[in-house]
Amino acid sequence: MALRLYNTMSRTKEEFVPLHPPQARLYCCGPTVYNYAHIGNLRTYIFEDILRRTLRYNGYDVLHVMNVTDVGHMTTDADEGDDKMDLAAKREGKSPWELARFYEEAFFQDTARLNIERPDVTPRATEHIVEMIEIVQKLEAQGYTYLTSEAIYFDTSCDDDYGKLARLNLADQRQGARVEVIADETKRNPSDFVLWFRNKPTHIMKWESPWGVGYPGWHIECSAMSSRYLGETFDIHCGGVDHIPVHHTNEIAQSECASGHPFVRYWMHGEFLLMNSAKISKSTGGSINRLQSLIDSGYDPLAYRYLCLQAHYRSELNFSLDAIDAATTGLRKLYSVRPESDPFLSDEAGYQEAHDRVLEALNDDLGMPQAVGLLHSYNSHRLWVNFDVVLGLDIAKRTEPRTEELPADIQSLIEQRNIARKAKNWAESDTLRNTLLECGYEVGDGPQGTTVKKRIL
Ligand code: AMP
Ligand code: ZN
Repeated sequence: MALRLYNTMSRTKEEFVPLHPPQARLYCCGPTVYNYAHIGNLRTYIFEDILRRTLRYNGYDVLHVMNVTDVGHMTTDADEGDDKMDLAAKREGKSPWELARFYEEAFFQDTARLNIERPDVTPRATEHIVEMIEIVQKLEAQGYTYLTSEAIYFDTSCDDDYGKLARLNLADQRQGARVEVIADETKRNPSDFVLWFRNKPTHIMKWESPWGVGYPGWHIECSAMSSRYLGETFDIHCGGVDHIPVHHTNEIAQSECASGHPFVRYWMHGEFLLMNSAKISKSTGGSINRLQSLIDSGYDPLAYRYLCLQAHYRSELNFSLDAIDAATTGLRKLYSVRPESDPFLSDEAGYQEAHDRVLEALNDDLGMPQAVGLLHSYNSHRLWVNFDVVLGLDIAKRTEPRTEELPADIQSLIEQRNIARKAKNWAESDTLRNTLLECGYEVGDGPQGTTVKKRIL
């Protein structure tokens, strides 16, 4: 049964055919680690995790790369404002390196709680400066750049294909340029973008380059790290829909002009999560947008994952407390499905037919809501458990009777943590959470106090 994926480039569903079977090479734009991820960001990583697991279910050997942006992402996607990392470091009185490592760890802690599998390679931008400089040099040698007092820019007027992903109309944009105020007046066209910043003495993170001491533009890092680990042309590139008009458009321009080859075969984009029908912001939002705040309110992180599975990745999803309450109820219902009352106990043909229908839904551009709907209607424990390698909801573990008691030292840590939380001693409670995590236990906060489950990652 063929796997079909919606390709943003062609605006159609296409059969997935990898370049190097049985491998499927996947690149996902990773977090900018200047703050905690919000649950909107996490929705995109859940979508990418479902894609990875679906590819694997279809027999592909997935090579998954996700960068960590620890330098060079400005406060707007279009190079303007200050570097997010630099700004946050100054705000929190830490070095940008300390800040980046702290939020990177917090990010991987959140994704692990959501059963998002860790990508095979998670390169950091600051560790790939050499590769970035090499691409800029290739572009410069071929005449795609110009140098100003501020930066070396990519000249979009030299690239006939510029804007093909977003189907941008450059003629309109250039006309607009006459009236538009361009933040940096050394820039020639509104769509031109920075490859390398120079002459920014107050910037904390900086490196030597052929264009002087400075730091990379944001887009160049993904071009450099994707080709470093996946080759100049690879199978799938993902991100949120906000990346279509600027970030991915610019990645394509610089990668294809530098290498002379097509960059990516399938572009996939996840739609946004809205919060009570409004936009979520990582820079301005309070802690209400974090996974941790859901956990503190007693929600199971997997209820959030389950909520995301109920909407198609190409549809907006509105988050509200009613929605997560409904997802919690739905998840409990599915955890109550018993193996002994499986409708397919002695009906192998029935099981196969049901299996194929669920797979067909999944392979139709990750039709997860349809797949979950079918799984609920079949109400088969065996089928749920089989597809849990894609769903990632810990179904076998949560539906099996508990056989092993927790070790005494773990029980003692749980008791200490309950006492700390009752006394509102959050620092102590967090330390105990970390100790439990180090012992291999995921920590949750249920109505009866601390709950733990053994980690699978
Ligand atoms: P950032 O850390 O800001 O670079 O974003 C990380 C990922 O989250 C990117 O793929 C974004 O496209 C995605 N993203 C940002 N906001 C949302 C949102 N509200 N809903 C879903 N995905 C988002
Ligand atoms: Zn990227």
